[in-house]
Amino acid sequence: MNIAFLGLGAIGRPMAARVAASGLPLTVWNRTAARAAAFAKEFGVRHAATPADAARDADAVVTCMPTSHDVASLLDGPDGLLAGLGDGATLIDCTSGDPATSRKIRDALAAKNVGYIDAPVSGGTSGAEKGTLTIMVGGDPAVLERARPVLETFGQKIVHCGDVGAGDAVKAVNNAFLATHILAAAEGLAALVKMGVDPKVALDVINASSGRSNASMNLIPERVITRKFPRTFRLALLEKDVGIAAEVARETRVPAPILQLTADLFRIARGEFGEVADHVEAVKMVEQWAGVEIA
Ligand code: NDP
Repeated sequence: MNIAFLGLGAIGRPMAARVAASGLPLTVWNRTAARAAAFAKEFGVRHAATPADAARDADAVVTCMPTSHDVASLLDGPDGLLAGLGDGATLIDCTSGDPATSRKIRDALAAKNVGYIDAPVSGGTSGAEKGTLTIMVGGDPAVLERARPVLETFGQKIVHCGDVGAGDAVKAVNNAFLATHILAAAEGLAALVKMGVDPKVALDVINASSGRSNASMNLIPERVITRKFPRTFRLALLEKDVGIAAEVARETRVPAPILQLTADLFRIARGEFGEVADHVEAVKMVEQWAGVEIA
């Protein structure tokens, strides 16, 4: 089974490294070609000059881009994926994408008899390195079965969620929870700090109580209180995800004021902190409003 992997970003790179380590024959492509060349040298795999070239002999192509639109932009033209993908191949899109664009990509590929699943991941860059990602899949179960040997190289829990777009929607809603938890925890802790409570003491209580979350248990102790704010998952990408969740709620006509507000707050934070800031840096916006540091 020949694999092509397109998009060696913060999470794509360790995922592709797992594919390489599994021994499956691998070709990589990245927009910034030097990154693909360095990867190919390190792992002893092939790197391609264009998406078409990467896809040419591939049974399965994995994409891991910021947005579904970035994936769609790779399809057309003489160097595009459609020019390289062969009859019966599979596109596994691990982008945290949006359902509507994923459906359009599925339709464009179906005309060439190429299967498509949306297969966004959770578990962060550390989960990708360890091969313990959770993968939420939308699409034809038969296409998922063809893709499974590739997914198993970087994923531990692989869940079929429904038709194309269902994986994207579950991922977006999960990340909307993450975003609301970060902001709510920051607001509450900032208030406690202002009234003189040590945030470590507050978290000791909260993490043994019903208000705990990944934000309170891991992100804030490891990244905020230490003031380390490592850059592992861009705030701009989380802003995109909450926007997708808010859009899913609008399309399904579910009143969702908390999702819409969180999407707006992350849009403000993205404007303030820019494209390279980490998602946990949204806490700094709340700290600025409060005039205290959660430390
Ligand atoms: P990065 O921004 O670190 O990397 C993005 C990758 O996509 C790079 O390889 C970049 O190439 C490439 N790229 C960007 N735009 C284009 C384009 N228009 N055409 C071709 N290639 C492009 O993102 P991540 O790796 O962090 O995230 C990738 C996806 O995974 C996102 O959808 C994200 O939401 C999701 N995700 C990320 C997690 C994380 O912890 N980082 C966790 C779970 C999901 P170049 O090198 O040239 O810039």
